[in-house]
Amino acid sequence: MLAPILHKGKSKVKSIAVLTSGGDAPGMNAAIRAVVRTAISHEVAVYGVAKGYSGLLEGRIQRLSAGSVANIIQRGGTILKTDRCPAFYEKSARREAANLMRRQGIESLIVIGGDGSYKGAHYLETENDFPVIGIPGTIDNDIPGTEDTIGFDTSVNTAIEAIDRIRDTANSHDRVFIVEVMGRSSGHIALQVGIGGGAERIIVPELPETWKGVSKAVDRGIKRGKTSSIIVVAEGPKPGLAFRVAKQLEKGGHSGKVCILGHIQRGGTPTAHDRFLASVLATSAVHCLLAGKSNLAVGVLNGQVVRVPLAEIVRHRRPLPEGLMLMAADLAS
Ligand code: ADP
Repeated sequence: MLAPILHKGKSKVKSIAVLTSGGDAPGMNAAIRAVVRTAISHEVAVYGVAKGYSGLLEGRIQRLSAGSVANIIQRGGTILKTDRCPAFYEKSARREAANLMRRQGIESLIVIGGDGSYKGAHYLETENDFPVIGIPGTIDNDIPGTEDTIGFDTSVNTAIEAIDRIRDTANSHDRVFIVEVMGRSSGHIALQVGIGGGAERIIVPELPETWKGVSKAVDRGIKRGKTSSIIVVAEGPKPGLAFRVAKQLEKGGHSGKVCILGHIQRGGTPTAHDRFLASVLATSAVHCLLAGKSNLAVGVLNGQVVRVPLAEIVRHRRPLPEGLMLMAADLAS
């Protein structure tokens, strides 16, 4: 079982702020709760920032108590609310944010978000010498330096439940269904959903050519007696890829029904896995700061909690795990 990295000695840290940024993800609340409770149990004052970097720049900061995070571990979304903040791309805004926190007596910041939020966090620390730690909170699971992110498991389970239902209809009507899942630039959700949902074909942005052979994949299924098929498509950078796949199928003599799962994949009760992951990573993040370490993100590698420099993470993209696309093709053949 995943165990937190704990700091055993004394600590100089007296105050921490926490915010959620970018797309919301189920389990963010469990992470907020763990940050707050861990900080308080180490006599560190903890502040919640509303609405990500936007709220930070607006000074929307409140002291949190252990009671203020009661009864949220099971709730999707984020009680702190989240936002995308174009102003934070500017160096001057990041300096203003650091100054504002210092004026309020806040010495460090924990950012729960995706790789975009990590970039903002990294520049905030590097330019202003303001300690930050990142916690991976995104359904996309596309952050380098971690094999898992808070919200991914819930999102995958939501999509697979939907596919199981769609399969009933696909079987009853002998139909091909094209199910579009989230993932503008990364196919991690599509890959896991496609494998877990027994898809005929998985189409991911990392391998754009995968959508071309889709008719042949359906033909192969028909040859061995299949009357229905599920194709899982990551949405990709241009909306409506599922419809283009349907057109491609038509050219090959098949008709495909499109189902776009959309935002239902974001919300909902976090799975036990995501609540546990969020609790362990958030606890480790606070202990990182207690140990005087920053400009890092916590993550999971080879089944262990790790601390990875934000400078390394923001330079890379996380590739799809090797071999899984081939495995998926074998399993569908
Ligand atoms: P995610 O964190 O889920 O990847 P985004 O990419 O939308 O979500 O990023 C969330 C926010 O992080 C942005 O709205 C912006 O405020 C901040 N951010 C993203 N990229 C950068 C960057 N290169 N420099 C500074 N801030 C950034």
